[in-house]
Amino acid sequence: IVLGSAPVGQLWEQAVKARGAVGIVSTADAPYIRPDDPATFTAADQWDVLQWGSVPYDPERKAFGFKAGLRAAARMRARLREGSVRLKVTVRSAFYDGPARSLIAEIPGTRRPDQRIVMVAHVQEPGANDDGSGCGTLAALAIAIAAAVREGALPPPGRTLMFMWADEVAGSRHWLASHADAARRVQYMFALDMTGEDTSKTGGTFLIEKQPDPSAVWPRPSDPHTAWGASEVKAASLKGSLLNDLHLAICRRRARDVQWIVRTNPYEGGSDHTAFGDAGIPSLLNWHFTDRYYHTNLDRPDKTSAAEMVNVGVAVATSAWFLASASDRDALAVVDLVAQAAADRLGLERRQGASAEIMTAWTKWYREALASVKALPVIGPTADVDARVGAAIRALSAAATR
Ligand SMILES: [Zn+2]
Repeated sequence: IVLGSAPVGQLWEQAVKARGAVGIVSTADAPYIRPDDPATFTAADQWDVLQWGSVPYDPERKAFGFKAGLRAAARMRARLREGSVRLKVTVRSAFYDGPARSLIAEIPGTRRPDQRIVMVAHVQEPGANDDGSGCGTLAALAIAIAAAVREGALPPPGRTLMFMWADEVAGSRHWLASHADAARRVQYMFALDMTGEDTSKTGGTFLIEKQPDPSAVWPRPSDPHTAWGASEVKAASLKGSLLNDLHLAICRRRARDVQWIVRTNPYEGGSDHTAFGDAGIPSLLNWHFTDRYYHTNLDRPDKTSAAEMVNVGVAVATSAWFLASASDRDALAVVDLVAQAAADRLGLERRQGASAEIMTAWTKWYREALASVKALPVIGPTADVDARVGAAIRALSAAATR
């Protein structure tokens, strides 16, 4: 049995595969969970934290892999210094076939029930924040909207609000593939992942991971990536929509009211927004990062914050209901909002020395974002909205060539 600090998969390859060990114990954690050097620890729990990992399945060797915190590993090393150690290891594990179940709830739209605003939280991860908090936030916001509609405090949505709890990404892809007709008419999508963090304990902030925009293709000083890291996004795949700026504005309104910290990050991918985004649906992720308990044994209820869950729930519910119910007057306001965001972005990019290629990409993206507002009113496109969108696009093009 090999005890080591290499990542569990690497250790398994080296010890089991190459050298015939019967199993391994790894202490590796991502650097944002725990620095390598105990002298730089800032919290006592860094001695006991351990992050999930996985080893390949080898039906012949049936070798095992464990993760250990540094305190447990230090005890094992102390015993090893005293001489040979006998270990008894019990592993109970099984593969089984069975259905992967998803739970879907809907509040049907009154005017365009075929057009959906979809919200998804994933059920397969066991952490309190990841993604117990996303599942709970989604349940609470669905119940709150349904109750408000039933009591007459809120008009029913014009489009359908759909809430889904499913196996991350796979459940979303399954729904998209098995409901192709409905999927084609999904208007917007929100993923909820790690939405309940007590950031005084976990670090990080609330983040909107934006639908892919030019900041996902060209690194921008104003739009840093998280410790999760960038993924490759092709410029040709970008298609602007109103979603990023509308949801950011609604989150900022909430933030102003309750002193909430709201930031954004460029698209990185990896949760259900990736599945819906790949299907061409404007999709974004509500999450928190960095979290120094991410995918660890210490992602427990004491790291969550009810107030933070309320903030995310209120913001997502507001954006979703608004997108499902917007009038032509609402759409006119959104044209102005997106036009202002476009002007702010072009100004920011000029100040941070963007190349002509990047300026062109943002102009194109915002032209498409403005055009997307035409489809926002539930009653369908109107002459007023079309005219305001046309004027805003002309003004944007004029500003871009100045
Ligand atoms: Zn997650």
